[in-house]
Amino acid sequence: MRTYENPRGRGAVAAIFASSDSRLRIPYTYAMKSLAEYLDLAAQAHGHLCAGQVLGVRLAMLGLRELGIDDPVAERKRLVTYVEIDRCVTDAVALVANCRLGKRALKFRDWGKVAATFVDLKTGRAVRIAARESSKQAARDMFPELEKEAGQQKAYAQLSDEILFDKKWVKVEVQPEDLPGFKGPRVICAVCGEGINFKREVVRDGRTLCCSCAGESYYKPAN
Ligand SMILES: [Zn+2]
Ligand SMILES: [Zn+2]
Repeated sequence: MRTYENPRGRGAVAAIFASSDSRLRIPYTYAMKSLAEYLDLAAQAHGHLCAGQVLGVRLAMLGLRELGIDDPVAERKRLVTYVEIDRCVTDAVALVANCRLGKRALKFRDWGKVAATFVDLKTGRAVRIAARESSKQAARDMFPELEKEAGQQKAYAQLSDEILFDKKWVKVEVQPEDLPGFKGPRVICAVCGEGINFKREVVRDGRTLCCSCAGESYYKPAN
């Protein structure tokens, strides 16, 4: 389809809603932005429209709807989101949930799973939404005539939440030092002298160490 050749344009977003079968359209009538509006914003922020953006927007919209959060921008202090993969889908989830790493409202668990948990700090409720393993096949079955990416974009916009996602109410104990706005003492690593925030220090044999000096480093000195 020509509209997919320039996925940054609004035409691409409009195209995934174009369906000859009106039964396939999902009415989003609540106070949140519409799916199309979020997809426009997601495509801009992520750099392209892709199946991951569509799935991520849908995933986050479902999570917020379950929590009763209509306006995640106005209620930005209410939500902490845990994401379980560092792929396209995560950019869309963070955008819709309005949760950013730099605001400490986005938490990354490197599990390689297309899932996110939305924690409502106001009510203590949390819901985990995971993409169903069968959602890819459902997309293929819906638009067998389209190439994979185009078919997934359209299908993920139109398939029901029940077909796309598993939803589970969960309990997340967000530690005080993990909350946005936590104020605590900053300590100094006894080995490297660098400052450590948010209680991330390790005390070993009576010495206060940073994670790196405690042996959890992801890097080592070159040469
Ligand atoms: Zn992408
Ligand atoms: Zn250190």
